[in-house]
Amino acid sequence: MPNFKDLNLCDELLINLSAVGYHEPTEIQAGAIPHLLAGKDLLGIAQTGTGKTAAFCLPMIQKLKLSSHTKTTSSPRALILAPTRELCSQIVESLDIYGKGLGIKSCAIFGGVGQKEQVSLISEGVDIVVATPGRLLDLMNQRLLRISSIEIFVLDEADRMLDMGFSEDLDAIIERTPDNKQTLLFSATMPTSIERMATRLLDRPIKIQVRPPSSIADRIKQKIIFCKSNHKYQLLKKIIKSEAGLTLVFTTSKLSADKVVEYLLQNRIATGAIHADKKQSERERHLTNFKNNAIKVLVATDIASRGLDIDQVTHVINFDLPLTAETYVHRIGRTGRAGHEGEAISFCDESEMHLLEKIKRVIKQDIPTEKFEGKAERVPHEGMLVKRVKAPTPGKSQEKTAYLDHSKRQKPLEEGESQKRIHPGFRNSKKKRR
Ligand code: AMP
Repeated sequence: MPNFKDLNLCDELLINLSAVGYHEPTEIQAGAIPHLLAGKDLLGIAQTGTGKTAAFCLPMIQKLKLSSHTKTTSSPRALILAPTRELCSQIVESLDIYGKGLGIKSCAIFGGVGQKEQVSLISEGVDIVVATPGRLLDLMNQRLLRISSIEIFVLDEADRMLDMGFSEDLDAIIERTPDNKQTLLFSATMPTSIERMATRLLDRPIKIQVRPPSSIADRIKQKIIFCKSNHKYQLLKKIIKSEAGLTLVFTTSKLSADKVVEYLLQNRIATGAIHADKKQSERERHLTNFKNNAIKVLVATDIASRGLDIDQVTHVINFDLPLTAETYVHRIGRTGRAGHEGEAISFCDESEMHLLEKIKRVIKQDIPTEKFEGKAERVPHEGMLVKRVKAPTPGKSQEKTAYLDHSKRQKPLEEGESQKRIHPGFRNSKKKRR
């Protein structure tokens, strides 16, 4: 494997990389960086965890630095599109770290927060805009941002952006980019829609695939646990209490995420949820708490989870099985990162068997299975989801800040007692909120 110097990176970048503890490039970095510095288009098939962010950030910083140019207000020189706010923030963070001292300015543009601050940054002049498609288009339509003179265009996690319904927004954005730009398309999977996009967008691209589209990192130990749907909560508690480390719990709906959080808090497990209904500030607080180990468990929906870059996650728990195999691959890829081992445990009830079959077909792996015979416990229903004033704050007692009123707790469900009878309407409300 070559070292970073062999990739023709400038001294300032080499110093910054050494400061951050990167001693040698990852496969995608070694494969992509020289071509990107030479101005080639790229199709990168790589999941997060492969080092793809640095693979596109490093040459971008160097190229922008070398082709000196005065910052033009509201017209960035490079545009990176990513599916979620979290990923945008993480990319900007990476750009700042790798480009320290090089004078390249970047900013994140995403929805869910006021636009004023973002607009003010853009109008001061930035080199790189990292944006989610919706907010970017919004600002473009308000004529607050122009992308007609960008030199480099990156689509990160393109498959996910399509999954999230950004296809039309992407078309509208692409249409307004100049023809002579350098384009980089990154995707963890390669469905036909991405193949089509690559053919349309890329000019004789270099293609780098660091792992086959649907393969799972060897470092991730997978397990399926069959259980009844109303036993999942007890199973989750058992795993969290018996296993150390940071645990990311996935649900397929916001309601399911809220219910899991409620249950864990009732059982004195400090946690928080990140999903589309949560305020940006709240999501960030939970994320910081999780990264700092102030909360051990983070509950997330798929939309919120994409791009979560936390190397120490030891367990991913699929509380609900995902609807597609690609999502399964993305979810479990949150663990086993940066050389660490990880475990991915998926709960599967009877209604999810067809999803499991689909996943196994695509990933072409036999996943070890276990059965859990628990007992039904009283689990939160929608009406019990109390509005919390505040999520846990690092340094404060989690149980004090993140707890709910004990007097509102109810007696445990008896074995065999019907979930539906106690919480009528639960299934309907779940459907509505999906
Ligand atoms: P990414 O695939 O871009 O999400 O990166 C995954 C993780 O690998 C991040 O935590 C990076 O900080 C880390 N990383 C990226 N490149 C390297 C490298 N060459 N050496 C060590 N760690 C790296």
